[in-house]
Amino acid sequence: MITYRKPPSALRTRSIVFSLISACAAVAFVAAAADTPSRTRRHVEMLASSRLEGRLAGSNGERLAGDYLGAELQRIGVKPLPGQRDFRLPFEFTAGTKDGGSTITLAREMPGGARALSFSDNGDVSGPVVFAGYGIVVPESQDFGYDSYATLDVKDKIVLVLRYFPEDADQKTRAILARYADLRYKAMAARQHGAKAMLVVTGPRSPNAGELAPMSFDTALAGSGIVAASVTGAVGHALFAGVQGKTLEDAQKSLDSANPHVAGFELPGVTARVHAAVEREKRTGHNIVGYLPATTPVATISKPWVAIGAHYDHLGHGEAGNTLAGKEDAGKIHFGADDNASGSAAVLDIAATLAKQPRRRHVLVGFWSGEELGLIGSSAFAAKPPLPLDTLAAYLNFDMVGRMQDNKLTIQATGTSPSWAKLIEQANIAAGFDLLLQTDPYQPTDVATFNLSGVPCLGFFTGTHADYHKPSDTADKIDYEDLDRVADLAAAIVRRLEDAVDAPQFTKVEQQTPPGGGRAGARVFTGTIPDYSTDVKGLLLSGVIGGGPAEQAGLQKGDVIVEIAGQSIANIYDYTYALDVLKIGEPANVVYMRAGERKETTLTPSARK
Ligand SMILES: [Zn+2]
Repeated sequence: MITYRKPPSALRTRSIVFSLISACAAVAFVAAAADTPSRTRRHVEMLASSRLEGRLAGSNGERLAGDYLGAELQRIGVKPLPGQRDFRLPFEFTAGTKDGGSTITLAREMPGGARALSFSDNGDVSGPVVFAGYGIVVPESQDFGYDSYATLDVKDKIVLVLRYFPEDADQKTRAILARYADLRYKAMAARQHGAKAMLVVTGPRSPNAGELAPMSFDTALAGSGIVAASVTGAVGHALFAGVQGKTLEDAQKSLDSANPHVAGFELPGVTARVHAAVEREKRTGHNIVGYLPATTPVATISKPWVAIGAHYDHLGHGEAGNTLAGKEDAGKIHFGADDNASGSAAVLDIAATLAKQPRRRHVLVGFWSGEELGLIGSSAFAAKPPLPLDTLAAYLNFDMVGRMQDNKLTIQATGTSPSWAKLIEQANIAAGFDLLLQTDPYQPTDVATFNLSGVPCLGFFTGTHADYHKPSDTADKIDYEDLDRVADLAAAIVRRLEDAVDAPQFTKVEQQTPPGGGRAGARVFTGTIPDYSTDVKGLLLSGVIGGGPAEQAGLQKGDVIVEIAGQSIANIYDYTYALDVLKIGEPANVVYMRAGERKETTLTPSARK
């Protein structure tokens, strides 16, 4: 294929004669280009086919996609990594939760009356029951006084709370209360106030009145540190049976204006026993990884590996909770042509190009699964790398590179090495893209994993679009000509990395404070990078942002935060909530575990727009 540079539109209009000639030439060219089969199309069409059912991590569709990628790698001449039998590198993850037989017993057991919440701790709890309204606590920093526990003593008791938030509140109030109405927040608030279990009832005045709450797919693996279950409307009414002159509906009605002064109350003489059993369904996902060995000895080469990679998993039928499909498309196959069959196709194509060329360094070719569930696959690879990651000279990531607009290509994470700008510019001379370079490596894709491992990296991206995370992200919408061009540019960059005597130097990117990041409306920034793929109790750090508050406080990768500003932290949700308690510029006490030892430090949050 000839190297093609897309001419800027202004040129064509200038001279009539020229335009006629160029029009003929352009038509001839497009015809020629159209005739030249795209190298990446068949990969995208296969990966985004309905047979692969949206390639959800751990599913049959993922396995079929892995088979296809493995066969293509073999065809290209890629080998399994040293010490590996084949390309498949398995990793285990929690793919879902289901109820393992939870029960609720008042005077007698009420069959089918309870279902555990997905983040509940397993266990048996019995005790007196206190009605705590909607169970919402809005942090003071939000300047909106609402605390369902203000007048209650729930220590060592079971709290009963209503699901959702006050039904008749005005728009502004709803917006604030909705933020703290997530059941995980309610469980954390109940735990913070010393309750030993939380029961949630869907009030008679709410949507889905009386129904049990579904066991949502919850990627945060760590439990919530409390037994938590939803109960039916019948159980709710039974709990209120002993309350004189007040039904559950009356109680909800009095709360629904969102008047913060309407308090909860003890349910006289009512005790309950709740048995919560959550079964976490473990599944195995597979990264597909191989390499093209160097064609000359590498003994004298610094960092003898260059890596290219892309995630190949997607959303399946949208069952993992991160779909943006509308009601009419709910449950349909999310084909994921751009996200990320396009990136996977680019990686296959780059590997095929490099396989035909001499190589001074080994080229690692990686396809990660579980990216859509929180970078789980690439994190598993980085946590137990089959080769030392400090022997990687660089890593190039491709995520959504199939829907280019106006010749625009974004290359992210360029701040991870001073070598990138010049290297990219040189390689782009032939390619002719309108480049947008972004220094920030803290992106919501696998490039972030390699940045955290101290590897100079780049992320290729052609921008989001209306079909993102919907079934409509289909293969017919991919611009294959541009996708092939992206692969060409990347192969040229890898070529230069291959030939470079010295490996690019790694730079830890400092936090980028957005221009005009004033205090008004600013949200706190702590500079921590949570590890989403762990079930450790507390917040495990997979890194800290260079120059950020956490680094200044002496926190580091591997530390587990268990308390911040007096708020105990059992998981990522507790931490997100605690961020709202913190104030910009106000020092906060942090308790954390390092190598099993309990330590304390002071962290002063800064502003983030
Ligand atoms: Zn993606």
